Amino acid sequence: MQVTYLDNNATTRVDPQVLEAMLPYFSDYYGNPSSMHAFGGGVAAKIQHAREQVARLIGAAPDEIIFTSCGTESNGTAIRAAIESYPNRRHIVTSRVEHPAIKNLFEALAKKGCRTTFVPVDREGRLDLDVLYDSLTEDTAVVSLMWANNETGVTFPIEEISRKVKERGIVFHTDAVQTAGKIPLDVARTGVDMLSLSGHKLHAPKGIGVLYLRKGTRFSPFMIGGHQEKGRRGGTENTAAIIGLGKAAELAQQHLDAGAYKCVADLRDRLEQELIKRVPNTLVNGDRADRLPNTTSLAFEYVEGESILLMLNEHGICASSGSACTSGSLEPSHVLRAMGVPFTAAHGSIRFSLSRYTTGPEIDLVIEKLPPIIARLREMSPFWKNARLEAVS
Ligand code: PLP
Repeated sequence: MQVTYLDNNATTRVDPQVLEAMLPYFSDYYGNPSSMHAFGGGVAAKIQHAREQVARLIGAAPDEIIFTSCGTESNGTAIRAAIESYPNRRHIVTSRVEHPAIKNLFEALAKKGCRTTFVPVDREGRLDLDVLYDSLTEDTAVVSLMWANNETGVTFPIEEISRKVKERGIVFHTDAVQTAGKIPLDVARTGVDMLSLSGHKLHAPKGIGVLYLRKGTRFSPFMIGGHQEKGRRGGTENTAAIIGLGKAAELAQQHLDAGAYKCVADLRDRLEQELIKRVPNTLVNGDRADRLPNTTSLAFEYVEGESILLMLNEHGICASSGSACTSGSLEPSHVLRAMGVPFTAAHGSIRFSLSRYTTGPEIDLVIEKLPPIIARLREMSPFWKNARLEAVS
């Protein structure tokens, strides 16, 4: 069966040009980039080229790019480095809608004695900026906020926040894992101190990430070892993946310049509008104005997201739900709960995330297949029946 892949915020396919760029570095050019011989030196030169390609995508200088193993490592390294660099400060700030790579880290750090602030969001997923700014004190070591939310695609005003946080002399980190390649990023303009990226969200392979570290930012490495990455991240480089990420960054820039994400947004909007039109009681989770061009989180009230996913799966359609199956019970995601999405909507929330590979016929397939699925599930739903009875009484 043909796969219709609308789960690109989970991971993306490796671009064929990225794969092509990587392959020789598994076989022909396997030298260690740290070696003294020219065979290894050639690989080191390619890594440097990849560093320049990634730097260009985010407006950084090449030596501000540190290659890591993933977005999670980049996030963890950034937060731990800020805390270690300011040992007299014990307060750390983030939002209530972060990815587990930040959320769970902050919760773990709270258990180790850090004072944490989780800034709330409103019903549209927009950050409460007053709570954020009021929380900052001389004790604050770092503020970490995602640039774009992985579930809803809602973006935070990172440029403004970065400026205000830095005016207070506080380190600012942003998790831009979902943002890179989808909207333009410019670290020079936004002034962030640290920023995390992940290769597998932008058509590079899994197992490669980036931490951008602004020149002059206090830092201590998480992975202590060899002199790789100028001593900022020890461990022999994941050469092929780094080279792949460099190529992916170059391609992402080209697609952004060519307006590819305008086409992606058009497809996403068509999907959203048609489903809202054809399926009653469908809501969009999150602010539609400040949002990634590829993401929509749709709540189909009174049905279970997992059931929708299973039935979409029968047609080869891949998406994801706003619930996480934890300890046997289906809990709506912490993001939707933080936004105050009602129980009946949060449970039936589905995220569709597109990419530059998504086609019109794929969107048409979802528009055709999904409405009868929801209708069938609602026929079986006692919540839906009650809601209908209440509506007519
Ligand atoms: N941050 C965000 C916003 C994400 O969406 C993800 C992955 O889904 C991560 C961090 C973690 O990235 P990685 O899978 O590379 O560790």
